[in-house]
Amino acid sequence: MSGKNVTEVRLADAEGIAKAARILESGGLVAVPTETVYGLAARADSAEAVARIYAAKGRPDFNPLIVHVAGVEQAAEYAEFSPEARALAEAHWPGPLTLVLPRRADAALAEAVTAGLPTIALRAPAHPVMQALLERLDFPLAAPSANRSGFISPTSAEHVLASLEGRIEMVLDAGPTSAGVESTIVAVRADGSVEELRPGPIQLGTRGGSLGIEAPGQLASHYAPGKPLRLNALAAEAGEFLIGFGAVAGDCTLSASDDLGEAASRLYAALHEAARAPHPRIAVATVPDEGVGRAINDRLRRAAA
Ligand code: AMP
Ligand code: MG
Repeated sequence: MSGKNVTEVRLADAEGIAKAARILESGGLVAVPTETVYGLAARADSAEAVARIYAAKGRPDFNPLIVHVAGVEQAAEYAEFSPEARALAEAHWPGPLTLVLPRRADAALAEAVTAGLPTIALRAPAHPVMQALLERLDFPLAAPSANRSGFISPTSAEHVLASLEGRIEMVLDAGPTSAGVESTIVAVRADGSVEELRPGPIQLGTRGGSLGIEAPGQLASHYAPGKPLRLNALAAEAGEFLIGFGAVAGDCTLSASDDLGEAASRLYAALHEAARAPHPRIAVATVPDEGVGRAINDRLRRAAA
């Protein structure tokens, strides 16, 4: 921080991106747009910079970070890529798929990035601003969601400021994010099989849970709006702010036209709006548990926990 703890908000144009790159090079924190949610980025090869992410978020140190790279070539400096892992990266990168792979012994990254695990989570984001940053930097970016640990994820620069103003150097503002929920995370094991650790925008047809690999940060209570939240509501009860879906109209709606992609992109903005509303409680209509609806329901269950 440059003394006064002011967080600068910059438009994500060429000058804004250049300034963000300078801050990141010198070990600072910049909130950056991705196609999922805004990320809180720092250089992944610096122990000091990575420690600042954990401090700014109040994130428990056992919760590892996703390392963002320009593509497979850079990712292969840090992880062992089996043929199956390489095929997944080639099919879905750049995009909202995070691969958990064996960390290379010679990976020149801060130990805290992987929280002491023998594996590393890697993703090549599709957002043009994040791509432009990664292409001009000669290190990858550790970037969890740009919110205080446990709170609602940010899909706009305003959401970032609501949580982290004064705790980070800069927000690169590129408007609301498109996918709206965090990346799908899959672990690719030594035998080539794939296990989903977190549902997200990409559906691989694998279901998690059976074989015991854990995503350590996936705590039961997360995305907390700070008020009780009731699921599967058909109508608002007294004191409830209702988030609608489809035929269930609410104080706001995830999608009046039953569109799950639209619902995902609006989910966190709706939760932020509900959190700010005067109502003491929140209710949410039923969202079908298919496609990206699985990711929406995963986040809603944690918000309700
Ligand atoms: P966030 O960056 O807030 O979306 O959280 C990233 C999530 O990635 C963490 O909460 C973990 O669940 C998961 N993750 C990161 N690294 C690993 C890893 N090596 N093994 C399993 N899960 C991981
Ligand atoms: Mg998060």
